[in-house]
Amino acid sequence: MDKIEHIGIAVKDLETSNTLFEKLLGVPHYKIEEVASEGVKTSFFKSGPNKIELLEATNPDSPIAKYLEKKGEGIHHIAFAVEDIVSEIERMKGEGFVVLNETPKKGADNKLVAFLHPKGTNGVLVELCQEIKEG
Ligand code: ZN
Repeated sequence: MDKIEHIGIAVKDLETSNTLFEKLLGVPHYKIEEVASEGVKTSFFKSGPNKIELLEATNPDSPIAKYLEKKGEGIHHIAFAVEDIVSEIERMKGEGFVVLNETPKKGADNKLVAFLHPKGTNGVLVELCQEIKEG
């Protein structure tokens, strides 16, 4: 695993939280992206070398909607950058972690992503993400 790629925060209302995080970080978000397959709308902020992803549910069956219902707003996941997500998934399985996406899926921000079940990681939802290389 490489550096922390971003921290994901579940929010009820993306527009309100965009304003809030713009005040907090002193910069506006640099992108908004909807991932229809996940029922989520995301926005991204840069703070120095770090990235924050805000996540809003776009339908009541979305995993984010369920998370908000159960736990309320807050830190939802920590994403680590990996060079080769397929081999990293294999390594995680070998170490006994429960990988929720054995086949990586297309996430926001031009990434292939896979999640580890938080039961095996002290309650922290961990996202592995690999930049999708052009060509
Ligand atoms: Zn993420």
